[in-house]
Amino acid sequence: MTLRTIDSLGPLAGKRVVVRCDLNVPLRDGVITDDGRVRASVPTLEALVRQGARVIVVSHLGRPEGAPDAKYSLAPVAARLGELLDAPVAFATDTVGADASGKVAALGDGEVLVLENLRFNPGETSKNEPERTAFAGELAAFADAVVSDGFGVVHRKQASVYELELARPSAAGLLIDAELDVLDRLTEKPERPYTVVLGGSKVSDKLGVIAHLLPRVDRLLIGGGMLFTFLAAQGHKVGSSLLEADQIETVRGYLAEAAERGVDIVLPTDVVVAASFSADAEHVTAAADAIEQTPFGASGLGLDIGPETSAVFAAHIRESKTVFWNGPMGVFELAPFAAGTQAVAEALTHVDGLSVVGGGDSAAAVRQLGFDDDRFGHISTGGGASLEFLEGKKLPGLEVLGWQ
Ligand code: ADP
Ligand code: MG
Repeated sequence: MTLRTIDSLGPLAGKRVVVRCDLNVPLRDGVITDDGRVRASVPTLEALVRQGARVIVVSHLGRPEGAPDAKYSLAPVAARLGELLDAPVAFATDTVGADASGKVAALGDGEVLVLENLRFNPGETSKNEPERTAFAGELAAFADAVVSDGFGVVHRKQASVYELELARPSAAGLLIDAELDVLDRLTEKPERPYTVVLGGSKVSDKLGVIAHLLPRVDRLLIGGGMLFTFLAAQGHKVGSSLLEADQIETVRGYLAEAAERGVDIVLPTDVVVAASFSADAEHVTAAADAIEQTPFGASGLGLDIGPETSAVFAAHIRESKTVFWNGPMGVFELAPFAAGTQAVAEALTHVDGLSVVGGGDSAAAVRQLGFDDDRFGHISTGGGASLEFLEGKKLPGLEVLGWQ
């Protein structure tokens, strides 16, 4: 069975449609540094506006602790959405409270309202199903129909992603549809060689993916924060770099399994080691097995892959026919540690086949480094969601829309 589409909801003119988007953009001092996810949500919203629906947009931003927190307000996102839609966009300063109710009631046909951050409400991400259902019920009270289009969260069983869709007639938006088209191409007979590049900082989240990817891919390139757990698994010291000590055994298992399957896990041979976590920190390139032999000793921090590794990764990527990349190779936000991410991004633009970048920070990285979106086969708005899809997992936010 495939996803229910917006058409399945029938005529929507005059109907109140709650749209679950993923507008979780990176912000610096209240300014959006990459609006990719806002832009990606525009086609669905425009389609609904064109039909004359009363559009109520909901999203999370960051990880507030279930209570209002000004630094995670969606207000700047609502403003950006207004610019992109070239239309007034109203904003409610709460999600299901008095301001939201009043503004929902006042909404006219073809108008758009953004509600404040879903995660200011403990029910959104509660582990307790009745709590999620209760919060979803409050959201559903605003809705004649629900459109789910936050691809970046479909792997999460959260109130607005799952219970809300159960509570009202619901369908997938155009973004989810487009994302799945590409991911299908990655799962169904991908052209080989098939290379997956993993990095970033959500190490424990992403390590689990490896077990499922090993049977599917030809090669895994490991950079970013997770590389240090691999180096530690090989018996190397990693100074004060990110390390998941309790995952070392698991990683040893992956290395052994990869060897058995003939899958190449390519690990860095050199890394950039810094004295501290800052843009002006002293830093040197060290061999991957000599991280503690720099002048910074055991306090050295590995913040990027080194130039030799970048060249090897780039060569592997360029000779692949299918490449999926999730997770920056280093702390690209700080210029001295962006070279590895830059090299991998550059290589992806030369893939003669399908190249996909997935993940909020990875997408932000390629744009920040000056690459236009159209130089890649696809830039996915979802990192974790893409990875779990590639693992072959059932994603609750898709199942609830009819996906099997
Ligand atoms: P994505 O959003 O693309 O899925 P993640 O959220 O997992 O990626 O990780 C992104 C973050 O990883 C970036 O903010 C980057 O600074 C950080 N990162 C990459 N390499 C390292 C490293 N060696 N040490 C610490 N953080 C790192
Ligand atoms: Mg991220």
